[in-house]
Amino acid sequence: MFDKILIANRGEIALRVLRACRELGIKTVAVHSEADADAKYVMLADESVCIGPPPSQASYLNVPAIISAAEVTGAKAIHPGYGFLSENADFAERVENSGFVFIGPRPETIRLMGDKISAKSAMKAAGVPVVPGSEGQLPEDPKDLKKIAAQIGYPVLIKAAAGGGGRGMRVVAREEDLLGFLDLTRNEARSAFGNETVYMEKYLGQPRHIEIQVLSDEHGNAAFLGERDCSMQRRHQKVIEEAPAPGLSEKLRVKIGESCVAACKRIKYRGAGTFEFLYENGEFYFIEMNTRVQVEHPVTELITGIDIVQEQIRIAAGEKLSFRQKDIVLRGHALECRINAEDPFTFIPSPGRITQYHAPGGPGTRIDSHIYQNYFVPPYYDSLIAKVITHGDTRAQAIARMRIALSEMVVEGIKTNIPLHQQLMDDKAFLAGQTSIHYLEEKLARKKATG
Ligand code: ADP
Repeated sequence: MFDKILIANRGEIALRVLRACRELGIKTVAVHSEADADAKYVMLADESVCIGPPPSQASYLNVPAIISAAEVTGAKAIHPGYGFLSENADFAERVENSGFVFIGPRPETIRLMGDKISAKSAMKAAGVPVVPGSEGQLPEDPKDLKKIAAQIGYPVLIKAAAGGGGRGMRVVAREEDLLGFLDLTRNEARSAFGNETVYMEKYLGQPRHIEIQVLSDEHGNAAFLGERDCSMQRRHQKVIEEAPAPGLSEKLRVKIGESCVAACKRIKYRGAGTFEFLYENGEFYFIEMNTRVQVEHPVTELITGIDIVQEQIRIAAGEKLSFRQKDIVLRGHALECRINAEDPFTFIPSPGRITQYHAPGGPGTRIDSHIYQNYFVPPYYDSLIAKVITHGDTRAQAIARMRIALSEMVVEGIKTNIPLHQQLMDDKAFLAGQTSIHYLEEKLARKKATG
């Protein structure tokens, strides 16, 4: 096992990784920007290194500074968390070429999955069901394009191969719009991702977002840890996640889970990963794979009892998975509300000083957060300040515990989206379960219209 790990991230996930390291008896190095010098995980880490000024480009994305921090502190491995450099194949390669272990998949796997076209064809070849669409990159000839769209059937979705964060996608409802929208999406993809390659797929009308968590070691062992339902989204960003997915049968769960495990074995996947699917009318359609730990991993931890971050570290150290598929038993139900520093209804970010903070507690309640009273939420980064996660024997109990947790939680001095989560915990459709990915935006639009 490693004796020292460098955590190349910030915020709640830096603290989450730090806690996993401490439990495994591993020393930690926190790297931070000038804006995060006072962060809780920086103080809790065994060592810390300032890697640059506040903007991410100059600090959390500053590869040479991170590599030299690992060199001067004698860290053996680097955990990238999520976001920032976590899915950057060039970074993973630099880490390994500099003699450190990258806690994640091999660079070539990250590259394969980072391009949505190659990811989709690899998954199709491995027997994972994918959204019907173009075979790879789109042709230039307008006639051929129209033919492909007609075959798929309108509405179609044009997607950037290098897209991410919910950007680089456009729905086309009618043939008249096809060529114009294609150009627009290509231009956007070129300026946002430096790659104008786009592809086309069927636009699903009312799908749910259901994803499968996997863990896979270097000895050919892989397992799936059930699924998560992340359909409550705004602008393709998840707001609430839960496990298991309401109403999903054991038979379908096992079928899709086994196909993901087979795909892991086929591509010799290493580490933790998530297969994301849209789910409609009882069918799963693969959309992408995330080759890292996800924000919503705690709901899976609560229902399986497996520490996903510790497993990532063990796998990176060359150990075998500590369990087999048959050992995984799903217990109860878990929910996660992402608490953001933002106005609950206009969604305008609200950085600043937290003047009062009380964290909720009690049975079945877990808080993953780096904030504290008097902490200053910097304006430079993602607005996520806390994850409130509850677990119960049933979904109803997890929801009841979430209501209590949200009502106990006090964050003053800045705005948060706690009031939105409180409304959702009383929302009839959410309580019934199985809402589609469009539900929240439609609800917010109705609210806006009626004032
Ligand atoms: P990103 O990498 O930007 O997150 P994804 O491919 O994971 O992109 O898609 C993000 C979201 O976009 C999905 O969760 C879903 O809400 C929507 N989406 C993607 N593909 C489709 C599709 N074929 N039909 C309908 N919605 C889609």
